Amino acid sequence: MIPFNKPYLTGKETIYIEDAVKSGKISGNGKYTQMCQSFFENKYNFKKCLLTTSCTDALEMCAILLNIEPGDEVIVPSYTFVSTALAFVRQGAKIVFADSRTDHPGIDEDKVTELITSKTKAIVVVHYSGVACDMDKIMALSTKHGLFVVEDAAQAIDSFYTGKDGLKRALGSIGHLSAFSFHETKNIQCGEGGMLCINDEKFIKRSEIIWEKGTNRAEFFRGEINKYGWVDIGSSFLPSELNAAFLWAQIEHLDDIQQKRKYIWEKYFELLKLHEQNRVYSLPIIPDYATNNAHMFYLVCKNIETRTEIIKRLKENSIFAVFHYQSLHKSDFYIKKHDGRELINCDRYADYIVRLPLFYEMDEECISKVYKYLK
Ligand SMILES: *Cc1c(COP(=O)(O)O)cnc(C)c1O
Repeated sequence: MIPFNKPYLTGKETIYIEDAVKSGKISGNGKYTQMCQSFFENKYNFKKCLLTTSCTDALEMCAILLNIEPGDEVIVPSYTFVSTALAFVRQGAKIVFADSRTDHPGIDEDKVTELITSKTKAIVVVHYSGVACDMDKIMALSTKHGLFVVEDAAQAIDSFYTGKDGLKRALGSIGHLSAFSFHETKNIQCGEGGMLCINDEKFIKRSEIIWEKGTNRAEFFRGEINKYGWVDIGSSFLPSELNAAFLWAQIEHLDDIQQKRKYIWEKYFELLKLHEQNRVYSLPIIPDYATNNAHMFYLVCKNIETRTEIIKRLKENSIFAVFHYQSLHKSDFYIKKHDGRELINCDRYADYIVRLPLFYEMDEECISKVYKYLK
Protein backbone atom coordinates (compact mmCIF):
# COMPACT_ATOMS: atom_id res chain seq x y z
CA MET A 1 0.00 0.00 0.00
CA ILE A 2 1.28 3.47 -0.86
CA PRO A 3 -0.55 6.12 1.18
CA PHE A 4 -0.98 9.68 -0.08
CA ASN A 5 0.99 11.05 2.85
CA LYS A 6 2.93 9.66 5.77
CA PRO A 7 4.15 12.18 8.36
CA TYR A 8 7.90 11.90 8.82
CA LEU A 9 9.42 11.62 12.30
CA THR A 10 13.10 12.41 12.86
CA GLY A 11 13.26 10.44 16.12
CA LYS A 12 14.18 13.50 18.18
CA GLU A 13 10.60 14.70 18.73
CA THR A 14 9.95 12.71 21.91
CA ILE A 15 13.40 13.56 23.29
CA TYR A 16 12.73 17.30 23.04
CA ILE A 17 9.17 16.89 24.35
CA GLU A 18 10.57 15.03 27.34
CA ASP A 19 13.08 17.82 27.86
CA ALA A 20 10.28 20.39 27.81
CA VAL A 21 8.24 18.35 30.29
CA LYS A 22 11.21 17.93 32.64
CA SER A 23 12.04 21.63 32.48
CA GLY A 24 8.66 22.31 34.07
CA LYS A 25 7.74 24.91 31.44
CA ILE A 26 5.09 23.44 29.17
CA SER A 27 2.83 26.41 28.45
CA GLY A 28 3.62 28.67 25.50
CA ASN A 29 6.41 31.13 24.68
CA GLY A 30 9.20 29.16 26.38
CA LYS A 31 12.63 28.01 25.22
CA TYR A 32 11.52 25.86 22.27
CA THR A 33 9.03 28.44 21.00
CA GLN A 34 11.75 31.07 21.01
CA MET A 35 14.29 28.75 19.37
CA CYS A 36 11.85 27.99 16.53
CA GLN A 37 10.92 31.65 16.05
CA SER A 38 14.57 32.84 15.99
CA PHE A 39 15.49 30.11 13.54
CA PHE A 40 12.86 31.21 11.04
CA GLU A 41 13.58 34.93 11.54
CA ASN A 42 17.29 34.41 10.85
CA LYS A 43 17.06 31.89 8.05
CA TYR A 44 14.29 33.53 6.03
CA ASN A 45 14.59 37.18 6.98
CA PHE A 46 11.13 37.49 8.53
CA LYS A 47 11.05 40.57 10.78
CA LYS A 48 9.16 38.83 13.60
CA CYS A 49 7.74 35.32 13.96
CA LEU A 50 5.12 34.04 16.41
CA LEU A 51 4.29 30.34 16.56
CA THR A 52 0.54 29.68 16.54
CA THR A 53 -1.64 26.62 17.05
CA SER A 54 -2.40 26.51 13.30
CA CYS A 55 -2.09 28.44 10.06
CA THR A 56 -5.82 29.15 10.40
CA ASP A 57 -5.08 30.92 13.70
CA ALA A 58 -2.21 32.88 12.13
CA LEU A 59 -4.61 34.03 9.39
CA GLU A 60 -7.18 35.05 12.01
CA MET A 61 -4.47 37.11 13.68
CA CYS A 62 -3.82 38.78 10.31
CA ALA A 63 -7.51 39.72 9.98
CA ILE A 64 -7.50 41.21 13.51
CA LEU A 65 -4.21 43.08 12.95
CA LEU A 66 -5.52 44.63 9.73
CA ASN A 67 -8.66 45.81 11.59
CA ILE A 68 -10.90 44.09 9.06
CA GLU A 69 -14.50 45.19 9.71
CA PRO A 70 -17.95 44.60 8.23
CA GLY A 71 -18.08 46.48 4.93
CA ASP A 72 -14.43 45.77 4.06
CA GLU A 73 -13.63 43.73 0.99
CA VAL A 74 -10.79 41.22 0.88
CA ILE A 75 -9.59 39.64 -2.37
CA VAL A 76 -8.91 35.91 -1.97
CA PRO A 77 -8.34 33.19 -4.59
CA SER A 78 -11.24 30.76 -4.81
CA TYR A 79 -8.92 27.81 -5.37
CA THR A 80 -7.61 27.46 -1.82
CA PHE A 81 -8.31 25.94 1.56
CA VAL A 82 -11.31 27.27 3.52
CA SER A 83 -9.15 29.02 6.16
CA THR A 84 -7.73 31.55 3.68
CA ALA A 85 -11.20 33.09 3.39
CA LEU A 86 -12.70 32.04 6.72
CA ALA A 87 -10.27 34.04 8.85
CA PHE A 88 -11.42 37.28 7.18
CA VAL A 89 -15.10 36.30 7.13
CA ARG A 90 -14.99 36.00 10.93
CA GLN A 91 -14.04 39.68 11.14
CA GLY A 92 -17.02 40.56 8.92
CA ALA A 93 -15.26 40.96 5.56
CA LYS A 94 -16.91 40.45 2.22
CA ILE A 95 -14.76 38.04 0.22
CA VAL A 96 -14.20 38.93 -3.43
CA PHE A 97 -13.03 35.70 -4.99
CA ALA A 98 -10.32 35.80 -7.66
CA ASP A 99 -9.67 33.27 -10.40
CA SER A 100 -6.52 31.18 -10.87
CA ARG A 101 -3.98 31.60 -13.65
CA THR A 102 -4.32 29.59 -16.83
CA ASP A 103 -0.93 27.94 -16.37
CA HIS A 104 -0.92 27.60 -12.56
CA PRO A 105 -3.52 27.26 -9.75
CA GLY A 106 -2.21 30.45 -8.06
CA ILE A 107 -4.16 33.74 -8.21
CA ASP A 108 -4.23 35.42 -11.66
CA GLU A 109 -2.23 38.53 -10.75
CA ASP A 110 -3.24 40.35 -13.95
CA LYS A 111 -6.93 40.07 -13.13
CA VAL A 112 -6.76 41.39 -9.57
CA THR A 113 -6.93 45.09 -10.60
CA GLU A 114 -10.50 44.76 -11.86
CA LEU A 115 -11.61 43.42 -8.45
CA ILE A 116 -10.30 46.42 -6.48
CA THR A 117 -12.90 48.92 -5.23
CA SER A 118 -12.85 51.77 -2.68
CA LYS A 119 -13.80 49.15 -0.05
CA THR A 120 -10.90 46.78 -0.74
CA LYS A 121 -8.61 46.51 2.25
CA ALA A 122 -6.36 43.55 1.54
CA ILE A 123 -5.23 40.98 -1.00
CA VAL A 124 -4.52 37.47 0.24
CA VAL A 125 -2.33 35.35 -2.02
CA VAL A 126 -1.74 31.62 -1.70
CA HIS A 127 1.54 30.12 -2.87
CA TYR A 128 -0.08 26.94 -4.14
CA SER A 129 2.14 23.86 -3.84
CA GLY A 130 4.86 26.13 -2.46
CA VAL A 131 5.30 27.88 -5.81
CA ALA A 132 5.38 31.68 -5.61
CA CYS A 133 2.75 34.03 -6.95
CA ASP A 134 4.25 36.89 -8.96
CA MET A 135 4.82 39.09 -5.92
CA ASP A 136 6.19 42.11 -7.86
CA LYS A 137 2.79 42.48 -9.50
CA ILE A 138 0.90 42.02 -6.22
CA MET A 139 3.11 44.45 -4.27
CA ALA A 140 2.76 47.04 -7.06
CA LEU A 141 -1.04 46.85 -6.67
CA SER A 142 -0.63 47.18 -2.91
CA THR A 143 1.42 50.37 -3.27
CA LYS A 144 -0.80 51.86 -5.96
CA HIS A 145 -4.09 51.28 -4.12
CA GLY A 146 -2.90 51.35 -0.50
CA LEU A 147 -3.80 47.72 0.21
CA PHE A 148 -2.34 45.25 2.66
CA VAL A 149 -0.92 41.99 1.35
CA VAL A 150 -1.18 38.74 3.33
CA GLU A 151 0.69 35.68 2.09
CA ASP A 152 -0.99 32.36 2.87
CA ALA A 153 2.33 30.54 2.84
CA ALA A 154 0.88 27.40 4.48
CA GLN A 155 2.56 25.18 1.86
CA ALA A 156 5.54 27.41 1.16
CA ILE A 157 8.20 26.83 3.80
CA ASP A 158 11.72 27.05 2.36
CA SER A 159 10.58 28.37 -1.01
CA PHE A 160 11.64 31.62 -2.70
CA TYR A 161 10.71 34.36 -5.14
CA THR A 162 13.16 36.32 -7.27
CA GLY A 163 11.85 39.76 -8.12
CA LYS A 164 12.78 42.11 -10.96
CA ASP A 165 15.45 43.62 -8.69
CA GLY A 166 17.24 40.26 -8.82
CA LEU A 167 16.88 39.65 -5.07
CA LYS A 168 15.80 36.21 -3.95
CA ARG A 169 13.35 36.48 -1.06
CA ALA A 170 11.76 33.75 1.05
CA LEU A 171 8.03 33.33 0.55
CA GLY A 172 6.33 34.76 3.59
CA SER A 173 8.84 37.63 3.85
CA ILE A 174 7.33 39.81 1.12
CA GLY A 175 3.76 40.72 2.14
CA HIS A 176 2.97 42.84 5.22
CA LEU A 177 1.97 39.64 7.04
CA SER A 178 2.16 35.95 6.28
CA ALA A 179 1.00 32.63 7.69
CA PHE A 180 2.60 29.18 7.63
CA SER A 181 1.23 25.76 8.57
CA PHE A 182 2.95 22.92 10.41
CA HIS A 183 -0.01 20.58 10.04
CA GLU A 184 1.06 16.95 9.62
CA THR A 185 0.43 17.16 5.86
CA LYS A 186 3.05 19.90 5.37
CA ASN A 187 6.82 19.57 4.69
CA ILE A 188 7.78 20.11 8.34
CA GLN A 189 5.13 19.56 10.97
CA CYS A 190 4.12 19.19 14.60
CA GLY A 191 0.68 17.62 14.19
CA GLU A 192 -1.24 20.88 14.41
CA GLY A 193 0.77 24.09 14.30
CA GLY A 194 1.39 27.31 12.45
CA MET A 195 3.25 30.60 12.44
CA LEU A 196 2.50 34.26 11.87
CA CYS A 197 5.29 36.33 10.29
CA ILE A 198 5.19 40.09 10.63
CA ASN A 199 7.23 41.96 8.02
CA ASP A 200 5.78 45.42 8.60
CA GLU A 201 7.19 46.69 11.89
CA LYS A 202 4.11 48.65 12.82
CA PHE A 203 2.24 45.41 13.51
CA ILE A 204 4.82 43.81 15.80
CA LYS A 205 3.81 45.19 19.17
CA ARG A 206 0.10 44.56 18.70
CA SER A 207 0.70 41.06 17.30
CA GLU A 208 2.20 39.93 20.62
CA ILE A 209 -0.80 41.31 22.51
CA ILE A 210 -3.34 39.58 20.25
CA TRP A 211 -1.29 36.37 20.60
CA GLU A 212 -1.48 36.53 24.43
CA LYS A 213 -5.26 36.95 24.93
CA GLY A 214 -5.28 40.73 24.51
CA THR A 215 -2.77 41.27 27.30
CA ASN A 216 0.68 42.87 27.31
CA ARG A 217 2.12 39.82 29.04
CA ALA A 218 4.99 39.31 26.55
CA GLU A 219 6.31 42.81 27.34
CA PHE A 220 5.92 42.11 31.06
CA PHE A 221 7.98 38.92 30.87
CA ARG A 222 10.74 40.78 29.06
CA GLY A 223 10.76 43.21 31.99
CA GLU A 224 9.70 46.15 29.83
CA ILE A 225 6.69 47.01 32.02
CA ASN A 226 6.04 46.25 35.70
CA LYS A 227 2.50 44.88 35.51
CA TYR A 228 0.40 43.41 32.76
CA GLY A 229 -3.27 43.61 31.97
CA TRP A 230 -6.03 43.65 29.36
CA VAL A 231 -5.23 46.12 26.58
CA ASP A 232 -6.83 44.85 23.34
CA ILE A 233 -8.80 42.02 21.72
CA GLY A 234 -7.04 38.71 21.09
CA SER A 235 -7.19 35.03 21.85
CA SER A 236 -4.97 32.20 23.00
CA PHE A 237 -3.14 31.79 19.72
CA LEU A 238 0.16 30.46 21.09
CA PRO A 239 0.96 26.72 21.11
CA SER A 240 2.32 24.84 24.13
CA GLU A 241 6.03 24.11 24.44
CA LEU A 242 5.26 20.46 23.63
CA ASN A 243 4.30 21.39 20.06
CA ALA A 244 7.28 23.73 19.74
CA ALA A 245 9.65 21.01 21.00
CA PHE A 246 8.26 18.62 18.36
CA LEU A 247 8.69 21.29 15.68
CA TRP A 248 12.28 21.95 16.76
CA ALA A 249 13.18 18.33 15.97
CA GLN A 250 11.74 18.80 12.47
CA ILE A 251 13.57 22.10 11.98
CA GLU A 252 16.88 20.40 12.74
CA HIS A 253 16.19 18.07 9.81
CA LEU A 254 14.77 20.68 7.46
CA ASP A 255 17.58 20.46 4.87
CA ASP A 256 17.49 16.68 4.82
CA ILE A 257 13.68 16.63 4.51
CA GLN A 258 13.73 19.17 1.68
CA GLN A 259 16.47 17.33 -0.19
CA LYS A 260 14.54 14.07 -0.02
CA ARG A 261 11.23 15.62 -1.10
CA LYS A 262 12.89 17.41 -4.00
CA TYR A 263 14.51 14.18 -5.11
CA ILE A 264 11.11 12.42 -5.23
CA TRP A 265 9.51 15.39 -7.02
CA GLU A 266 12.27 15.52 -9.67
CA LYS A 267 12.08 11.78 -10.20
CA TYR A 268 8.32 11.96 -10.86
CA PHE A 269 8.87 14.87 -13.24
CA GLU A 270 11.66 13.14 -15.15
CA LEU A 271 9.69 9.93 -15.60
CA LEU A 272 6.36 11.52 -16.49
CA LYS A 273 7.99 13.88 -18.95
CA LEU A 274 8.84 10.89 -21.13
CA HIS A 275 5.18 10.62 -22.05
CA GLU A 276 4.62 14.23 -22.94
CA GLN A 277 3.19 13.52 -26.42
CA ASN A 278 0.32 11.19 -25.69
CA ARG A 279 -0.37 11.96 -22.08
CA VAL A 280 -3.81 12.79 -20.74
CA TYR A 281 -2.50 15.21 -18.16
CA SER A 282 -0.03 18.07 -17.98
CA LEU A 283 2.83 18.47 -15.52
CA PRO A 284 3.22 21.31 -13.00
CA ILE A 285 4.82 24.53 -14.21
CA ILE A 286 7.37 26.39 -12.10
CA PRO A 287 7.76 30.01 -13.35
CA ASP A 288 11.33 31.36 -13.67
CA TYR A 289 10.88 33.66 -10.66
CA ALA A 290 9.85 30.79 -8.35
CA THR A 291 11.61 27.90 -6.64
CA ASN A 292 10.05 24.52 -5.96
CA ASN A 293 9.94 23.32 -2.32
CA ALA A 294 8.46 19.96 -3.36
CA HIS A 295 5.43 20.36 -1.15
CA MET A 296 3.21 18.59 -3.67
CA PHE A 297 3.31 16.79 -7.00
CA TYR A 298 0.12 17.33 -8.95
CA LEU A 299 -1.10 16.56 -12.45
CA VAL A 300 -3.70 18.60 -14.32
CA CYS A 301 -5.83 16.03 -16.12
CA LYS A 302 -7.45 16.68 -19.50
CA ASN A 303 -10.94 16.34 -18.03
CA ILE A 304 -12.74 15.06 -14.96
CA GLU A 305 -13.28 11.59 -16.49
CA THR A 306 -9.53 11.16 -16.94
CA ARG A 307 -8.96 12.19 -13.34
CA THR A 308 -11.56 9.76 -11.99
CA GLU A 309 -9.98 7.02 -14.14
CA ILE A 310 -6.46 7.75 -12.83
CA ILE A 311 -7.53 7.84 -9.17
CA LYS A 312 -9.45 4.59 -9.64
CA ARG A 313 -6.61 2.79 -11.45
CA LEU A 314 -4.11 3.79 -8.75
CA LYS A 315 -6.50 2.82 -5.97
CA GLU A 316 -7.04 -0.63 -7.50
CA ASN A 317 -3.31 -1.04 -7.11
CA SER A 318 -3.28 0.22 -3.51
CA ILE A 319 -1.88 3.66 -4.37
CA PHE A 320 -3.70 6.61 -2.90
CA ALA A 321 -3.84 9.72 -5.07
CA VAL A 322 -6.31 12.46 -4.21
CA PHE A 323 -7.93 15.50 -5.75
CA HIS A 324 -7.77 18.88 -4.03
CA TYR A 325 -9.82 22.03 -3.39
CA GLN A 326 -13.37 22.61 -4.52
CA SER A 327 -14.10 26.19 -5.62
CA LEU A 328 -14.87 28.28 -2.52
CA HIS A 329 -17.14 30.64 -4.48
CA LYS A 330 -19.41 27.65 -5.11
CA SER A 331 -19.29 26.30 -1.54
CA ASP A 332 -22.55 25.82 0.40
CA PHE A 333 -21.43 28.54 2.80
CA TYR A 334 -20.53 31.22 0.28
CA ILE A 335 -22.43 30.59 -2.96
CA LYS A 336 -25.28 32.94 -2.00
CA LYS A 337 -22.87 35.68 -0.94
CA HIS A 338 -20.75 35.39 -4.09
CA ASP A 339 -21.37 38.01 -6.76
CA GLY A 340 -22.04 35.44 -9.48
CA ARG A 341 -18.85 35.85 -11.53
CA GLU A 342 -17.65 32.68 -13.25
CA LEU A 343 -14.13 31.62 -12.27
CA ILE A 344 -13.33 29.15 -15.00
CA ASN A 345 -9.70 28.35 -14.22
CA CYS A 346 -10.54 27.72 -10.58
CA ASP A 347 -13.34 25.32 -11.55
CA ARG A 348 -11.01 23.58 -13.98
CA TYR A 349 -8.40 22.93 -11.26
CA ALA A 350 -11.14 21.79 -8.87
CA ASP A 351 -12.18 19.15 -11.43
CA TYR A 352 -8.87 18.22 -13.05
CA ILE A 353 -6.09 18.23 -10.41
CA VAL A 354 -4.86 14.98 -8.90
CA ARG A 355 -2.09 14.88 -6.29
CA LEU A 356 0.35 11.95 -6.20
CA PRO A 357 1.80 10.35 -3.05
CA LEU A 358 4.85 12.30 -1.83
CA PHE A 359 6.42 11.66 1.56
CA TYR A 360 9.91 11.30 3.01
CA GLU A 361 9.93 7.52 3.19
CA MET A 362 9.04 6.94 -0.48
CA ASP A 363 11.80 4.89 -2.08
CA GLU A 364 12.65 4.17 -5.73
CA GLU A 365 10.35 1.16 -5.76
CA CYS A 366 7.37 3.26 -4.60
CA ILE A 367 8.05 5.94 -7.20
CA SER A 368 8.38 3.37 -9.99
CA LYS A 369 5.15 1.70 -8.91
CA VAL A 370 3.18 4.96 -9.06
CA TYR A 371 4.75 5.76 -12.43
CA LYS A 372 3.89 2.32 -13.80
CA TYR A 373 0.16 3.05 -13.45
CA LEU A 374 0.40 6.52 -14.93
CA LYS A 375 2.10 5.60 -18.17
C1 LIG B 1 -2.88 23.63 5.19
C2 LIG B 1 -3.39 24.93 4.73
C3 LIG B 1 -4.06 25.83 5.57
C4 LIG B 1 -4.47 25.48 6.96
O1 LIG B 1 -3.44 25.17 7.82
P1 LIG B 1 -3.77 24.70 9.32
O2 LIG B 1 -2.43 24.75 9.97
O3 LIG B 1 -4.34 23.33 9.24
O4 LIG B 1 -4.72 25.69 9.89
C5 LIG B 1 -4.41 27.07 5.08
N1 LIG B 1 -4.14 27.43 3.81
C6 LIG B 1 -3.52 26.59 2.95
C7 LIG B 1 -3.24 27.05 1.56
C8 LIG B 1 -3.14 25.31 3.37
O5 LIG B 1 -2.54 24.49 2.51
